[in-house]
Formats: sequence, structure tokens, C-alpha cells
Amino acid sequence: MSNLQLELVPGVSLDIPMSPTRGVAQTPQMKECRKCRRRLALSQFNKHRSTDDGVQSWCRDCQQAYMRQYNVERAQQKRIAELEKELAEIRAKEKKEKELERKVAEKAKEKKEKQPGWPTRKQAREGFDREYAKATIRRCRGDRRRAARMAGVSLRTFHRMMGG
Ligand SMILES: [Zn+2]
Repeated sequence: MSNLQLELVPGVSLDIPMSPTRGVAQTPQMKECRKCRRRLALSQFNKHRSTDDGVQSWCRDCQQAYMRQYNVERAQQKRIAELEKELAEIRAKEKKEKELERKVAEKAKEKKEKQPGWPTRKQAREGFDREYAKATIRRCRGDRRRAARMAGVSLRTFHRMMGG
């Protein structure tokens, strides 16, 4: 028994070569990997429901290598994203610190401009008037009326010059 004779349509017979051991048509269960171009047994391919031969077009080795590479790249991308986030946080912190520094410097400048201990023009003028009035009184031996006259102001103004 070498061939199976089938006559499905009357008058047309099909010759199918038979294996002596299994009695089933023996097509080589091989396939070329689309990636590495090796011809391999179908068992070297992962299953795939929607293809004609029921297996993937890449062999297992190629798929594993691809997945390894994919995982490595994904891990790298994840790490890069983490580092970028850290960097953004550091930059935000730096910006905040700079803003704070700027504010502190501004406050210090304002304070310096006010010159604590330095009299205003009005205060300086009052101080001068007081010193002048005192000196004038000394010169007039304590006589305020005379001193006012000498200073060319009214007694009232002279008292104000003395500081009340
Ligand atoms: Zn391959």
C-alpha cells in the first residue's frame, strides 16, 4: 500500500502518497523564519491562531531576542522618565530657592536704603535747629528771649527749635 486512491468526484481520482507507518500525508513540518531566515520545524515557532499554518512568522529564538530587547529598552525608557522627573523636581526647587534668594536680597536692599540710624532730612534739620538754639542760648547766658532775638525768630519758634 503506497497510494491512497480517492474518488470524490466521479471519474476524477486523487493520488495521495501514503506513509507506510502512519498512513497520513507527509508534508515536511518546516517553516522559514521571516527574521533569521532559518528553516526550522514548526515546533520551533510559537502558536498563532490567525495564520494559515497556526504559528508565528518569527521563530521562538527571534521572538525571545526581540522581547528581551524590548524589555531592555522599556526599562531604559522608564529609567530615563524617572531621571527626567527628578531633574524637573530639582530645577523647580532651584527656581524656588532662587526666588527666595531674590526676595531676601530685595529686602536687604530696601533695609540698606532706609539706612537705619541715618536721620531723615527733617530729623537732620531739627537736630541742627536744636544745636543752633542751644549754642545761641549759651551765648546769651541762658536768656531765651535774647537768644530768640539773636536767632531772628519769635520766642515761640525758638522754643520749637529747642524741641518743644
Ligand atoms: Zn528566527
